[in-house]
Amino acid sequence: MVKCTICGVREAFYARLYSGEKLCAKCFLESIEYKVRATIAKHKMFEFNDRIAVAVSGGKDSVSLLHILAKIEKDFPRASLNAIIVDEGIKGYRDEAIEIAAENSAKHGVTYTVISFKELYGFTLDEIAEITKSGDLTPCSYCGVLRRKALNMVAKRSGATKIATAHNLDDEIQTFMLNIIHGDPMRIARTGPTYNDEEPWFIPRVKPLCEVLEKEITLYAYLKGIRFQESPCPYASAALRNDVRNALNRLEEKHPGIKYTIYGSTEKIREAIRERKPKIHLNQCAVCGEPTTGEICQACQLLQKINVH
Ligand SMILES: [Zn+2]
Ligand SMILES: [Zn+2]
Repeated sequence: MVKCTICGVREAFYARLYSGEKLCAKCFLESIEYKVRATIAKHKMFEFNDRIAVAVSGGKDSVSLLHILAKIEKDFPRASLNAIIVDEGIKGYRDEAIEIAAENSAKHGVTYTVISFKELYGFTLDEIAEITKSGDLTPCSYCGVLRRKALNMVAKRSGATKIATAHNLDDEIQTFMLNIIHGDPMRIARTGPTYNDEEPWFIPRVKPLCEVLEKEITLYAYLKGIRFQESPCPYASAALRNDVRNALNRLEEKHPGIKYTIYGSTEKIREAIRERKPKIHLNQCAVCGEPTTGEICQACQLLQKINVH
């Protein structure tokens, strides 16, 4: 039997190729939690008395994040944790996800708020998809923008001081590559482990899982017996992102550790851009008051398009 590199006692079951370690289940799980704690500390993601809103979709990443943050929060009695579940209104898909997200929140004694596109915007995503099917935008582009705004609104309403999202290392480097591919490298400045516009109506974002591989979060969720939604969203098309994901996975297979190298480069490039680029000033949207770089926020622009139909 191959013994675990860390404890030297139990049988190894997982080979972490990028580090050369062979890990037993217990040491693997601890290593993930340790890494998340280290990421939080390194990027100073939280204050001891933060009111943290976690965006929980019911997928493996967000449910694992909820699990880990609930554990960490026990050491900080003055901090609080709330889950925000956005119901986009996707028949036959979202209902299961909401049930899973609510079940996991309750399990950890975390209060949760469900907010729906329908009550916030007057349309479900299914209705938006139907109305806009002949247009040039996919349901995903509507969903992303409307979801972000919903999160910000609910977090603000509940007095949250931070929004935690479950983006993992793979998500981060895919987005980096996509920004390059789309010819929009300056956007890299507005992404990353933490993001704050330092405006009173903007709630800072943090991504505690941003240094964990997607594959290892999946493994974490399975080993912990965490229930999550496995089926992908029926609207998930994102063809280009999938190509980038596959390309990066192939590279990692051939050259273990390459994802971390790319991640390290994104960090350096982001720092360089942030230093040189004057800060973008955010305004309040003339329609809804939410933060925007222009006059009317992207969400309101999209909703105007739908209402015109
Ligand atoms: Zn071990
Ligand atoms: Zn607006």
